Amino acid sequence: MRGICGGRLSRGGNATYPAPRPLVPIELEFCPGCNCFVREEETACPFCGGDLAALREEDQAHRRRVVAAMDHLRTLLAAQEAVG
Ligand SMILES: [Zn+2]
Repeated sequence: MRGICGGRLSRGGNATYPAPRPLVPIELEFCPGCNCFVREEETACPFCGGDLAALREEDQAHRRRVVAAMDHLRTLLAAQEAVG
């Protein structure tokens, strides 16, 4: 009778084990339009139908505006602290 592993395991020192399955089998990206996981090679989100390249570009532009606004706010706060 063969074991659960198909008889490939032996008690001797010459055991062959199946390759361990990776915990995350494939690399996934986020869709910036709906925040769902999408495959890296997708060009259109299968969930919201958005154009992933355009949505990523829009998301990057938004992040740049947020970073610029935060930098501006830090500058204003530093100037306010300097005044007292
Ligand atoms: Zn989406």
